[in-house]
Amino acid sequence: MIIFLMEERTIFHRIRDREVPADIVFEDAEVLAFRDILPKARTHILFIPKYFVASLTDITPETAHLPGLLILKAQQFAKEKSLTGYKLLFHVGKAGGQEVFYLHLHFLSDQEF
Ligand code: 5GP
Repeated sequence: MIIFLMEERTIFHRIRDREVPADIVFEDAEVLAFRDILPKARTHILFIPKYFVASLTDITPETAHLPGLLILKAQQFAKEKSLTGYKLLFHVGKAGGQEVFYLHLHFLSDQEF
């Protein structure tokens, strides 16, 4: 008997894999960034690693570089777009406001690009 164990695919898997459209503003080999569909600031971008981790609570020593990588790319993005002030936010767990269980960093700024 063959059993297929498949990870649950979130909307961010589908955006990453180009199955669902998104307004993509940054991409490289490791990270994808796109505009939040319901922006809570003038500029509201979500940074995700291409490698799937569900939440900050699931970070292990093997994946501990990923949150820092998202912060680094957000910083790079801000410099490129001349955004000098912004907030970075991780929602962690349902009780922490996390709705999509694919690790993501919110980038919020009152400045536009
Ligand atoms: P969380 O609450 O999990 O930290 O944030 C999830 C974010 O994803 C929310 O701000 C929500 O507006 C955004 N979002 C949910 N579905 C979609 C979608 O289909 N496309 C885009 N671009 N953003 C989404």
